[in-house]
Amino acid sequence: MKVTVFGIGYVGLVQGAVLAEVGHDVVCVDIDANKVELLKQGHIPIYEPGLEALVKENHASGRLNFTTDAAAGVKHGEVQFIAVGTPPDEDGSADLKYVLAVAESIAQHMESHQIIIDKSTVPVGTADKVSARIAHVLALRERKDLSFDVVSNPEFLKEGSAVADCMRPDRIVIGTSSATTEDVMRELYAPFNRNHEKIIVMDVRSAELTKYAANCMLATKISFMNEMANLAEMLGADIEMVRQGIGSDPRIGYQFLYAGVGYGGSCFPKDVQALIRTADSIDFDSKVLKAVESRNDEQKTNLFKKINKHFDGNLLGKTFALWGLSFKPNTDDMREAPSRVLIEALWKAGAKVQAYDPEAMEETQRIYGDRDDLSLCGTKESALKGADALVIVTEWQAFKAPDFDVIKQQLKKAIIFDGRNLFEPKRMKNKDITYFSIGR
Ligand code: NAD
Repeated sequence: MKVTVFGIGYVGLVQGAVLAEVGHDVVCVDIDANKVELLKQGHIPIYEPGLEALVKENHASGRLNFTTDAAAGVKHGEVQFIAVGTPPDEDGSADLKYVLAVAESIAQHMESHQIIIDKSTVPVGTADKVSARIAHVLALRERKDLSFDVVSNPEFLKEGSAVADCMRPDRIVIGTSSATTEDVMRELYAPFNRNHEKIIVMDVRSAELTKYAANCMLATKISFMNEMANLAEMLGADIEMVRQGIGSDPRIGYQFLYAGVGYGGSCFPKDVQALIRTADSIDFDSKVLKAVESRNDEQKTNLFKKINKHFDGNLLGKTFALWGLSFKPNTDDMREAPSRVLIEALWKAGAKVQAYDPEAMEETQRIYGDRDDLSLCGTKESALKGADALVIVTEWQAFKAPDFDVIKQQLKKAIIFDGRNLFEPKRMKNKDITYFSIGR
């Protein structure tokens, strides 16, 4: 099938590459000319395991192409994916300007029936808005004869395993009430639906809400565990034991039950916020979601509070080694990363940061630029040199079994603040390391 994808970000690029891999003929369109040029030359703008080889192979085979030419993109596709960003507006609601701009482009250039697929995470009612915008432009073009259908097809990939998630999705949610559109969507996704039925067809609004409900449920699990961790700390319990004790109940399960430094990334914070705003707009008080958000905001300050307390509020001139900058492992994404809240709080208190991350160094440099109070180090060991303590923010595999002798040699004093509970407190005590973790 000939497929066009608007937006070459985490979602659009991965989805485009995966669709090309199974044989579809894909054109990806973006307004970022620099990104498009880099991709044409074989440079992948984001880090995602397995993505580079997939993009290069499919680009070389001619099944995956990149352009800034929206008209050519629209002309190419039998279906048009909208996979552009939906960042928070000033009030936290999802900003639809990029989505609606793509809708306009499609309407301006379409010459035959089109299926427009909302892949971006968008509030309930967006498919109606996209339809209205397209109808408006078609009317201006005096082309009311052109028919179209807008489908909601939310994306559930996880950054860090995006390629694997798209190749083997748990479910494919398709929001449409049209049998013909459903048929086209089934054909598009048939290669991913062979092992067992994964396609769940529903009405458009339910599909739109499903995406928010999924992310808000996961964010709720994280905030719930962080709340339990804070309670455990005050009550003299160990959240790791509690986690195992409750995870063993199959109704609860072990997934997503880790206490830590709060959720970040480009999805959970903005999606929780956007659903709260949607609820506000219809005078519904989303009590649970508001609590989830406020617990998370507070949890992001947890490590700083522990550090500040340990050093009696005297952080001026101190240096901290930071392991992990990306909001989670296996990505270079720093959007809403807890590391940023910590780094900025340390700077405000007059401390310096020596940081290392396996993938997010360039992104950190891009965000913060050159500063006297930030050293970006080439290895996790070099970040330790002369620091007053080590702070672990992201649970990269490479941090899980470090050489504790090196840590002790390189730090001024053997102190670790661990935001991800990577080590056993007893073992740390035996090694004479002053160890702080979450909820223990
Ligand atoms: P992103 O910011 O990485 O990429 C968006 C891309 O869209 C950018 O390259 C931008 O230049 C491009 N763009 C903007 N306007 C355009 C236009 N008019 N025409 C063509 N391209 C345009 O975003 P992302 O992380 O890929 O997220 C995209 C959507 O998918 C969001 O709604 C997000 O909530 C959702 N989503 C993201 C993830 C994730 O893990 N990142 C997972 C599921 C769903």
